Amino acid sequence: RLYNEVQELKGNIRVYCRIRPFLPGQNSRQTSIEYIGENGELVVANPFKQGKDTHRLFKFNKVFGQAATQEEVFLDTRPLIRSILDGYNVCIFAYGQTGSGKTYTMSGPSITSKEEWGVNYRALNDLFHLTQIRQNAVVYEVGVQMVEIYNEQVRDILSDGGSSQRLGIWNTALPNGLAVPDASMHSVRSTEDVLELMNIGLMNRTVGATALNERSSRSHCVLSVHVRGVDVETDSVLRGSLNLVDLAGSERVDRSEATGERLKEAQHINKSLSALGDVIFALAHKNTHVPYRNSKLTQVLQSSLGGQAKTLMFVQVNPDGDSYAETVSTLKFAERVS
Ligand code: ADP
Ligand code: MG
Repeated sequence: RLYNEVQELKGNIRVYCRIRPFLPGQNSRQTSIEYIGENGELVVANPFKQGKDTHRLFKFNKVFGQAATQEEVFLDTRPLIRSILDGYNVCIFAYGQTGSGKTYTMSGPSITSKEEWGVNYRALNDLFHLTQIRQNAVVYEVGVQMVEIYNEQVRDILSDGGSSQRLGIWNTALPNGLAVPDASMHSVRSTEDVLELMNIGLMNRTVGATALNERSSRSHCVLSVHVRGVDVETDSVLRGSLNLVDLAGSERVDRSEATGERLKEAQHINKSLSALGDVIFALAHKNTHVPYRNSKLTQVLQSSLGGQAKTLMFVQVNPDGDSYAETVSTLKFAERVS
């Protein structure tokens, strides 16, 4: 089988770290990145602090340095996409502080040329190619939903004008495997269809957001892809799914400064990210109880975390020395689940 490499993983959870480059004009800044090893080692240090105990070593399945291209990153993601057609549920998400490259990795920069496509587009592009190759034996249908989770409320961002209606989550698995059955489902046949939908979703997401109050960094965005394959000869049905998640920024908000709305948002984000960490920790350690119920995020993702599911986490790092404290807290989160 093609997928042995992926199936061998401990609990089917894989963690890739990606360090974004300095942005134009930032090259004179000091970095916290000391060393990137071939086998997933990463050493970070606070460039503004001298002394012995300032270096920290982390180990992941892989570390992508600042020069890694979107294509290289996707090459290591690709086997997971293939397994969706074999009936697996796959979850790929990006974790990190605001500005660390989560959206870049998942979707790409805002004006996307094909070379800069992120994991989302590449994964769907691959999926369409694969379904076409197999089309004579199995007939595939691909449907897409896109929801935003903000302050523990789930909202459809593909319905006309971006519905403000709060959606419910099904905690018991439905036969069709939908966690949010009331979010609109859009049938797609090509990568172009998906690009169009994602643009609508991204536009609906930013409605009402000002530059200072950028909401996308404080909500989780989940793109759910549902694949249904019908075997032409036997009529048997196989289902697989893919959740692609751009998480809210993981930065700690200073409790003494945040008030009102901002504090509420921060508390919801903290709660849902720690719930996600707890779920993955429980899965990685094969605990009998997996605490899915503690947040909307983990409820929405439940079918693609654990069981017959494969999970990939991108841990995004901003190389700036000024971000050292956030970087260490991001890496610790990832280390706990890897
Ligand atoms: P986040 O979604 O985590 O807040 P973004 O993806 O918006 O972060 O990235 C912040 C900035 O850095 C954006 O201008 C983005 O285009 C840029 N960026 C992030 N990762 C890379 C990368 N690997 N290569 C080039 N630019 C990047
Ligand atoms: Mg973003």
